[in-house]
Amino acid sequence: MATAAVVADVEKDRSQLRQKEMMAAHFDRLALAPETGEKVAYTFVPGNLTELLLSFDILPVLPEINALQAGMRGKSKDYISLAEKLGHSEDVCTYVKSDIGMLKSGNIGPTGKRLPNPDLLLLSYTGCFTFLKWFELLREEYQAPVAMLHVPYQGDGRITDSMRQYVVEQLKKKIIPTLEKITGKAYDEDRLKEILTRSALAEDNLVWVLQSAKRRPSPIDAYFGGVYYIGPIFTAFRGTEDAVLYYKELREEIEERIAAGAGPVTPEGEMTEEKYRIVVEGPPNWTSFRQFWKMFVDEGAVVVASTYTKVGGVYDLGFRHDPTHPLETLADYCLGCYTNLNLPTRVDMISRYVKEYQADGFLINSVKSCNSFSAGQLHMLREVEGRVGKPGGFIESDLVDPRYFSAANIKNRLESYFQMLEQKKASGGAS
Ligand code: SF4
Repeated sequence: MATAAVVADVEKDRSQLRQKEMMAAHFDRLALAPETGEKVAYTFVPGNLTELLLSFDILPVLPEINALQAGMRGKSKDYISLAEKLGHSEDVCTYVKSDIGMLKSGNIGPTGKRLPNPDLLLLSYTGCFTFLKWFELLREEYQAPVAMLHVPYQGDGRITDSMRQYVVEQLKKKIIPTLEKITGKAYDEDRLKEILTRSALAEDNLVWVLQSAKRRPSPIDAYFGGVYYIGPIFTAFRGTEDAVLYYKELREEIEERIAAGAGPVTPEGEMTEEKYRIVVEGPPNWTSFRQFWKMFVDEGAVVVASTYTKVGGVYDLGFRHDPTHPLETLADYCLGCYTNLNLPTRVDMISRYVKEYQADGFLINSVKSCNSFSAGQLHMLREVEGRVGKPGGFIESDLVDPRYFSAANIKNRLESYFQMLEQKKASGGAS
């Protein structure tokens, strides 16, 4: 077992190392873009058009990722404070303020290299009004053109042909001509198809990894560990050879963990006892990420499924990028992102996770910044509880503003929640 754990740790390092190298190479390329002349588009995670950008050799920059990295590296506090001094209200999403503060502090990205100015602000609108305001600010700052793809909200919980066609028409008439103009290159559908083929390969392995948590013990933590797993596919790497290799290696590592009967690797080492299986809704807190994770580890709680790992694509319900219908598949991808789903669909999803992953309960981390996630969460709590008969818990924090992470309060709430689960287990109740 000890040997297996060592092997698993070495294997884990292999995929982590690859991810680190991918990130470093990407940010190096970005830093050199002003000299090499490579074009750069800033764009958001949900509904990103990475494959289309890559087919034009455009380098994507994801401002949300820079903001969360700033949170993890302890820099967001000062960035937010600077943005507030410049007049941005306390109520504004802290990703935006962290990004504005970073920009006003020299625009140094997560690897310590300067980020280039955008040649295009590509706004794929999937359910978050803040996206519009954020890019208005960046447009003023950089004087860069904005191309907006309007993605209709799934108000009735389904994608219709007319919704799909509406998005495809915009891709054909607006987005692709803009990319052609910026790069001076013609749209190459065969190239896009090749990239989409690679996306689907990586997506298959990501889903396999996420669904490995159905086992007992779960070999992964699908929330805290999951955020590392979704990194490449939700950002600049979907459709690349690197991403295909990363997810292949990751899957092999998890297969080895399963063979060894091992639990997830956490900052505290390998979890040896899986006491509670939990589903989590909502994004994590980034400024105290490790401390937050440790609170779960200390209780023996493993997150077996989470909605946050679907924010850049809901793949586990069957969607894959389909190279045979390149533009339609991009439309379906954008339409299907988690933040574009209505509340009944989200309730269905969480309820399904609780049942399929045999969870003891579910927790909502309600972040102050994000209405796309937080609106309706108390209603969702009651709905899911009623449907699955398992207890829900509710905690509050923020994405990257450390003022809203009250460690003592969160720990207290978690302890009470897990005590309740324990009592239910002991009484043979709902768990
Ligand atoms: S409000 Fe939420 S979805 Fe919108 S930019 Fe902020 S974190 Fe992202």
